[in-house]
Amino acid sequence: MSLVEITRQIAKAETKHDRVAGSVQLIAVSKVQPNERVAAVLNEGHRVFGENRVQEAAGKWPDFRAQFDDVKVHLIGPLQTNKARQAFELFEAIHSVDRVKLAKAIARLAQELGHCPELFIQVNTGQEPQKAGVLPEAADQFIADCVAMDLPVRGLMCIPPAEEEPALHFAFLAKIAARNGLSGLSMGMSSDFERAIAHGATHVRVGSGVFGERDYS
Ligand SMILES: *Cc1c(COP(=O)(O)O)cnc(C)c1O
Repeated sequence: MSLVEITRQIAKAETKHDRVAGSVQLIAVSKVQPNERVAAVLNEGHRVFGENRVQEAAGKWPDFRAQFDDVKVHLIGPLQTNKARQAFELFEAIHSVDRVKLAKAIARLAQELGHCPELFIQVNTGQEPQKAGVLPEAADQFIADCVAMDLPVRGLMCIPPAEEEPALHFAFLAKIAARNGLSGLSMGMSSDFERAIAHGATHVRVGSGVFGERDYS
């Protein structure tokens, strides 16, 4: 796989599922990838990346930003409240807002700093105990709470359970977003982004499909 190939497949899925051309944003998930691979994708012209750890992002993106213009980095992993301030410095978007304490910390920082990353509310659609995200039955209230805090809520995000058909979760997330008047949907990874696009994804988070397999050794 490669950036070119994934970009082509996204365009194809847009056409096939009657989505506006260019309406799906590819977030190239660069976590754990060697810097050479990330630099290669930057050199190919891609500018939107995803990281799941604040510390890891802090270690590489300031340097890349110094070398490349218009870089946008999205936090797609969990955020501890005590790292929210650092997240404001590192990320243009946060996909993992999932509790009132964190939402309040973000709202305070937004007021203090006069800007705020774009926010996605993570929904634990599979109700998995080990997974982050607001539970589906609490989602409407939590979205309303965030909107009441004047937070820039762009949409919802989910990570479906590994062993279930992701399309069911994508459809479910799209339904929750629609009834709350939210248009952004961060869903779909390397193995299922086409199905996510079929169900309305506006942001797909693709790692290994763009960069190759991650080497955790
Ligand atoms: C790692 C990660 C991805 C990308 O996974 P791939 O299977 O490599 O495409 C997407 N979303 C989240 C939240 C991730 O942590």
